[in-house]
Amino acid sequence: MAGAYETTNRYLQLAFDVLRLDHSYKTLLWTPSRELRVELVIQMDDGTIGNYIGYRVQHDDSRGPFKGGLRYHPDVDLDEVRSLASLMTWKTAVVNVPFGGAKGGIQVDPNQLSQRELQRLTRCFTQSVMIAIGPDLDIPAPDMNTNARVMSWMFDEYSKYHGFSPAVVTGKPVDLHGSLGRDAATGRGCLFAIREVLHLAGATLTGMRFAIQGFGNVGGWLAKLLFEQGAKVIAVSDVKGGIFNGDGLDIPRVNDHVAETGSVVGMPGTEPISNEALLTTDCDVLVPAALGHVLTQQNARDVRAKYILEAANGPTTFEADEIFNERGIVCIPDIYANAGGVCVSYMEWTQNTQKTTWSEEQVNTSLERHMVDAHRAVVKLQEEFRCSMRTAAFALGVRRVKNATDLRGLG
Ligand code: GLU
Repeated sequence: MAGAYETTNRYLQLAFDVLRLDHSYKTLLWTPSRELRVELVIQMDDGTIGNYIGYRVQHDDSRGPFKGGLRYHPDVDLDEVRSLASLMTWKTAVVNVPFGGAKGGIQVDPNQLSQRELQRLTRCFTQSVMIAIGPDLDIPAPDMNTNARVMSWMFDEYSKYHGFSPAVVTGKPVDLHGSLGRDAATGRGCLFAIREVLHLAGATLTGMRFAIQGFGNVGGWLAKLLFEQGAKVIAVSDVKGGIFNGDGLDIPRVNDHVAETGSVVGMPGTEPISNEALLTTDCDVLVPAALGHVLTQQNARDVRAKYILEAANGPTTFEADEIFNERGIVCIPDIYANAGGVCVSYMEWTQNTQKTTWSEEQVNTSLERHMVDAHRAVVKLQEEFRCSMRTAAFALGVRRVKNATDLRGLG
């Protein structure tokens, strides 16, 4: 199986082909601008020394400052961070926010660290990448296993050296210059994305059966919003396992259960389902909202959904994508589907730089506008090039980034 970066580049190649892009542009557009690898040494609570490796890859900044999350996971490596940084470049272009693309990560299992150790690690990382980040240079945000708390530490550490700088990171707590609506933004963006896709097909969310892999910030919010819209969430899962109820899960009760036990597993009135089985369960919309590369050549033929809503980054391998296209399964690609997070990050950054605050309604209305407009633009290219939604989304992103690059000029 190809690595994450190769998968992204193979998707990009399809967009280059439909756009008939000159070879020199390809190299320019897929090569990251800057890659930082840092050694992080911290003192652990028991007095021993902890060594970690962190990365920040800045892919492209022709449309604006580099932008993208920071993840903490044992599988983080340069290949994955490169791929995710590139995806951010196309994502910010698809939803038309004035940023480029970047991503960071630390190879660590955050569950093995105390809060104090996590704080030390985050501050150490911030120090190590300080030369390359800034409110007009590169703006990190939460990603897998990082959250508003982690962003508070980054903001604080950066501000020690540069003075009060809330716009250096987004996804901060609302009480510390974060934006209303940022927490729910990626899930809400996913909701708008599937709503628009269904609308074009003459369908609605009511009664649609969803299976969601991952019940973290994105999957959890999406499940809640879908439930409120009258859709049926029939299966959800987390790292410990999953739960199924064909009549639809009572999501508020699932949330209560998670608050009490720390997992969806064991929720009364449900049947257990494994993370693997969830992917091939009978449903209308399958939502991978956790790890990358979970839909592969091995399980793609067994997927029974009509739509795949990519709430996670890079959940589908190139081979699985070909199988879905062949089978007429519509894949709503990550660079559009999960772009709600960075949309509201843009609004948070705008509020910080303008020293103002927006109401939640203002944020949500603006998010909806970005998602609806992006959907229209993607569909237009899909019709023009007679291609998949993914290729159209990449083509839209590439076209916008190439135009900005051309307008700025080389040299
Ligand atoms: N980590 C999120 C993503 O992958 C959000 C990035 C951001 O807000 O900068 O899109």
